[in-house]
Amino acid sequence: MCGHPSTSRIASTIGTFCRVKQECINCDFQRIWSSQPFIKNVPAGNLLLSAAILMSGSSVTKSLRLFSHLKMVAICRKTFNEHQKMYLLPSIRQVWRNHQEKAITNLKEDESVVLGGDGRADSPGHSAKYGSYTMMDLKLNKIIEIQIIQSNEVGSSYHMEKEGLIRAVNFLKENNIAISTLVTDRHCQIKKWVRENLPDTKHKFDLWHIAKGVSKKLEAVAKLVSGKDVKPWIHSISNHMYWCATSTVDGDGKMMLAKWKSVGQHIQNIHTGHSDVFKECEHGELQGRERKKKWMTTGSAALLKTLDVINNPRLCKDIVMMSEKYQTSRLEAFHSTLNHFAPKMTHFSYWGQTCRTFLAGLHYNENSDREQAITAEGKERFCVAFPKFKHGGYSVKKVYKDPTYDYVDEIIHLVVAFCQEGNKKPLQETPGALCSEFIHPEKDEAVAQHSSRFC
Ligand SMILES: [Zn+2]
Repeated sequence: MCGHPSTSRIASTIGTFCRVKQECINCDFQRIWSSQPFIKNVPAGNLLLSAAILMSGSSVTKSLRLFSHLKMVAICRKTFNEHQKMYLLPSIRQVWRNHQEKAITNLKEDESVVLGGDGRADSPGHSAKYGSYTMMDLKLNKIIEIQIIQSNEVGSSYHMEKEGLIRAVNFLKENNIAISTLVTDRHCQIKKWVRENLPDTKHKFDLWHIAKGVSKKLEAVAKLVSGKDVKPWIHSISNHMYWCATSTVDGDGKMMLAKWKSVGQHIQNIHTGHSDVFKECEHGELQGRERKKKWMTTGSAALLKTLDVINNPRLCKDIVMMSEKYQTSRLEAFHSTLNHFAPKMTHFSYWGQTCRTFLAGLHYNENSDREQAITAEGKERFCVAFPKFKHGGYSVKKVYKDPTYDYVDEIIHLVVAFCQEGNKKPLQETPGALCSEFIHPEKDEAVAQHSSRFC
């Protein structure tokens, strides 16, 4: 014995008393490993260490290196992989399914189901191996379905988003959920598929994605010499788009489009006689910065280029489909959570990626309705941030209460139960590896060829 401490010994010593909270932690898991060092011949501390690494969304390599630098005896990668395969991944999938079942039961009581859908690739560019497609109940802000697609299942990574949507919709159909409204981005394949396959579903587009596209085009116009008069209007035109949708509470697409097109006249200081549907601007007397802004000159090259962007036929078709109430920004927030559990550019096995995505779903659903934190004086807490896009400007943000991790306790209880049963049930049904279709050379031959080339 070299005298180096082991992870389980240290954890059972320091873990029972928290110096920060100054209280004993009456933790089930420490009771498990202090009273029961082995669960069916599996060292309990080691199993729980593997579980803790995975549940915290940590990198296994980095976590084990941390113990190595501390000269602490810990498990090796092979042991972690064994624990993950036999107990952790099956437990995560089971807990996700249990939670999902409850969410689906609640959704069945809703007569007009409003879902948001969005895809995420596991790496930037067009070389992603995995794609996930997530469906969120936008009324309750809860993830209800996640599909993972490996690129070779659909030919290439380009088709993963559509396939994810198809599988998610099929899953909901099997569970007798009819989607009343679906909010997505403007992805062409998605638009076409929903139009052809979900005739009873209202398909609407997220505002942020449309506004971002328009702002980009106007910024390109503003960079031209003749387009510099456009720059002061970009922000207003983008804001106008949000107003067109959110002020049309009945979601009437024709009215949204008429409102949108009126901005082409407004920027020329024309505020009446827009169209039969939307006759005149509703802003009343202009105040402050809006009143002082220089109007665009009728017939100028800058104006004509701006009108080309505003009246673009493809954009106008999408304006009619803008979502007046529910947006997909919370799905973007979920993707940030997912980045924590399954960072882009880090490679995981198929079930590793899938279950880390389920973990992100469980974490999001448990913490999506956190209350705002309160100061010691009983006031609501805020913080001031300086986001880069504001170029020196600031934003005031609410500070929320700390997240909770009840789902982790639930999963670890199941891990211990699976281990106690001695029932090893690794997850099956993985799509073949991306390289499975390639010709595999004999390793010795490949090494010999490589050496002769570089000698
Ligand atoms: Zn006006």
